[in-house]
Amino acid sequence: MRYAIFSDLHANLEATEAVLQDARERECTHFVCLGDVVGYNANPHECVEIVRAMDCPVVQGNHDEQASLAASSRGFNELAERAIDWTREHLTEADKEWLRDLRMSRQIRDFTIVHATLDTPKQWGYVFNNLDAAASFTYQHTTVCFFGHTHVPGAFVRDEAVKRIRVDHLQIESGKKYFINAGSVGQPRDGDWRAAYCIYDLERIIVEQRRLKYDMAAAQKKIIEAGLPRLLAERLQLGR
Ligand code: ZN
Repeated sequence: MRYAIFSDLHANLEATEAVLQDARERECTHFVCLGDVVGYNANPHECVEIVRAMDCPVVQGNHDEQASLAASSRGFNELAERAIDWTREHLTEADKEWLRDLRMSRQIRDFTIVHATLDTPKQWGYVFNNLDAAASFTYQHTTVCFFGHTHVPGAFVRDEAVKRIRVDHLQIESGKKYFINAGSVGQPRDGDWRAAYCIYDLERIIVEQRRLKYDMAAAQKKIIEAGLPRLLAERLQLGR
């Protein structure tokens, strides 16, 4: 059983299609989405349709929440706010209802999924350092939990202490806990523009980080043609 774990698609259709195709080629049998299907890029409705049709476990991200409301309830920065206003206008009522009803965290088989943090999932805090991760570990009852939100792939491991590690091929060991960021499909922010996702092989108990080139120029063109802020197109190639 091989799970493709993908997060932060952010309405980037080209990146989403590249990831799903790669996952199928890599013989993934199951799919899990860690939220932020919409926001920033130009194909929110299409991305919602794809993920909804997959009928896989999905948790809610902060952009999913904000897009599903009539008006913003929290302070996004100006760039995110302009994109979310545009997104609301380009989603159907059924899309918004689906986004609104997504759960905050879920357990699938022997692992957990959440968009932001396990300690206060609805506050959308960011796990960037060992201290942030330690707070989440307190609420983690499975060996492995996948999260997103920061758009920075990598993992935190709790053994005697909490430390940050890279994920290439990560062998999961019993007695430890792992809080693993799948990276972002549609807007990576670790300086690498390629779409990111993880494969979790439940038989071999290995997590593999994947990076994929996709048709970024097409995604950028759509952003500009849609009248979304130009910076949203530019940041894709910077991976920021
Ligand atoms: Zn996001």
